Amino acid sequence: MSMQNPVFIPGPTNMPEAIRQACYMPTIDHRSPMFGKILHPCLENVRTILKSNSAHIFIFPSTGTGGWETALTNTLSPGDKVLAARNGMFSHRWIDMCQRHQLDVQIVETTWGDGLPADRYTEILKADSNHKIKVVLATHNETATGVKSDIAAVRAALDAAGHPALLFVDGVSSIASMDFRFDEWGVDVAVTGSQKGFMLPAGLAIVGFSQNAIDAARDAKLPRTFFDINDMAKGYAANAFPYTPPVGLMNGLKLATDMLLEEGLENVFARHHRIAEGVRQAVSAWGLELCASSPDVYSDTVSAIRTPEGFNATEIVTHAADKYGVAFGVGLGEVAGKVFRIGHLGSLTDVLALSGIATAEMVMADLGLDVRLGSGVAAAQEYYRSNPAASALMAA
Ligand SMILES: *Cc1c(COP(=O)(O)O)cnc(C)c1O
Repeated sequence: MSMQNPVFIPGPTNMPEAIRQACYMPTIDHRSPMFGKILHPCLENVRTILKSNSAHIFIFPSTGTGGWETALTNTLSPGDKVLAARNGMFSHRWIDMCQRHQLDVQIVETTWGDGLPADRYTEILKADSNHKIKVVLATHNETATGVKSDIAAVRAALDAAGHPALLFVDGVSSIASMDFRFDEWGVDVAVTGSQKGFMLPAGLAIVGFSQNAIDAARDAKLPRTFFDINDMAKGYAANAFPYTPPVGLMNGLKLATDMLLEEGLENVFARHHRIAEGVRQAVSAWGLELCASSPDVYSDTVSAIRTPEGFNATEIVTHAADKYGVAFGVGLGEVAGKVFRIGHLGSLTDVLALSGIATAEMVMADLGLDVRLGSGVAAAQEYYRSNPAASALMAA
């Protein structure tokens, strides 16, 4: 048993004991059918979690950031045009990566707290009549602001313009926690990592490629070695990676994905929604506001909470760690010092969420904010009592 408090950062997330043990593996021959018995179920389970029948799944020893690089370098050439909205730190970093790879990014500046502006995408794509734009980037869940975007609407923008650009979606903090529909949304590359919804340590970049994205690799001139999907595919055909795979993490991923599928994806999403809603009820009882500008963009995996003008929100995070040994997320970039974040994804229950809400209250009271002890907890309790979990025993 662990005596450690749960963490309330939006990744890495809390690890169920069984997953931890699955990562703790004796050495095996990583170029053998024995590794194949871990690898192939992982690829299949990830495809199911993406809600795809045909996506090509690649898993690299890396993190979500390596997944972005895999998406770009396998499909694009220097100077290629990419369309992206910037509405938070993660969309900003993906844009920055594009620029460092000498891509020409058309940036749609978007208020931090808003979702992706699909209508602006439609206008821009319609105006791009000779199809210079090769890829549209979309961050499904902007972890910095707690904002979920409508990926179906981005697909509809591409379709309305009759535009052939590929659609790349950052699902690092949504996939395996919030509904994600690779096939239905016509996603061409989906990117995620191991340490958020998959409840594992950091160390895996997990990506899905459509056939169109695979085909784009033929002409793509950006240099790639470590993240080459064709080398990886050849490795998989021989029950291997092109280099040494992190076998323990892969074994953990096999168990994590089995657990998610056993719980049932819709149940996983409902659990995240319920837990998130309890947190939101607490925020409103505190008299505070979310960074997310409207309910349709509220994220079910992370809440970024605005603190009153003149108060440094980062103090909440520092004080919670120092005094109570509990981790919350700091504000990043434009909203640094203005928000603190409660991560509520991965292996969590109502009871764990209540402990995070209770801790946040103690911290805010300690720091002199006008928050009554128990107010947020009571609001969340009322919500959880009247919306009971489908299954009480998930985070075993
Ligand atoms: C965490 C995160 C990333 C970065 O992933 P790393 O695993 O830290 O490289 C990218 N995008 C989003 C939306 C994230 O939440």
